Amino acid sequence: MRVDESQSSDNVEDRRGMSGGAMAAGGGILSVVVALVGVFVFGLDPNQAKQLGNVVGGGAGALREKVAGAEAGKQRAPDEVTKFTSAVTRMTEEVWTEQFRELGKKYEKPKVVIFDTQVSTGCGNAPSAVGPFYCPADKKVYFDPSFFDELERKLGGSKAAFSQAYVIAHEVGHHVQNLLGYSARVDAKRGTKQENDYSVRLELQADYLAGCWAYHADRKYHILEAGDLESAVKSANAIGDDRLQTRSKGWTSPESYTHGTSAQRVKAFTAGYKTGDLSKLDMFFEVRSAGDL
Ligand SMILES: [Zn+2]
Repeated sequence: MRVDESQSSDNVEDRRGMSGGAMAAGGGILSVVVALVGVFVFGLDPNQAKQLGNVVGGGAGALREKVAGAEAGKQRAPDEVTKFTSAVTRMTEEVWTEQFRELGKKYEKPKVVIFDTQVSTGCGNAPSAVGPFYCPADKKVYFDPSFFDELERKLGGSKAAFSQAYVIAHEVGHHVQNLLGYSARVDAKRGTKQENDYSVRLELQADYLAGCWAYHADRKYHILEAGDLESAVKSANAIGDDRLQTRSKGWTSPESYTHGTSAQRVKAFTAGYKTGDLSKLDMFFEVRSAGDL
């Protein structure tokens, strides 16, 4: 992947090294979250992110003070992770501002927060074990870059960059869904039998949006190199619910899927990448069930 790191976004916040002190106090509460959502998927889905607030609300105050104190101090110099994240975020801002304009809407840029250990969010406290996620309440994307190291180990150094960009684009995709009103459709199903089915629709649509972003970003910036799409597909393939469940329990139960199967994730991303077509977004909610996607 070719990334011009001289291009940067004003909306990336580096909060690493700011959570140490509050961690001990919040530990008990955090383990509940880990038990609740503790699978290593990318994308704690926005529904789950919302629920963080209910579970961990208690510990948030202490951490918030800690973070506010640290923010008043000196900002660290941008390292490779920050530069890369910032450059990719900038490309999402430019692509989505343009695409929203074509839809006759205004794009509101989300903040992207890099953290380690744990983070205080508008959706409650989250440990890094939840993986990258988007919090609809504060409209911020959160991730711990150790997730990137994981991808790098799985995919091999140079091949991992585009997969990392895909992770950011998927989470920004959840923000786009929030702005376009798709997240609300899923919220309306919370607590009903269709909750998981609608969560899968939303996740696959976020993969599709990540693909659309890649289509438009590549036309604008020529970011893709040989092997990039394969590596994104490979990571999409590794994080489907079927694969994750097989790995953790040895079997799968499709009714409990919240992100879709590996094949569905690859298909959604690829369809977005091939067309960049935003007029197809309703399709994810028009099918009879998420299994038809
Ligand atoms: Zn997601």
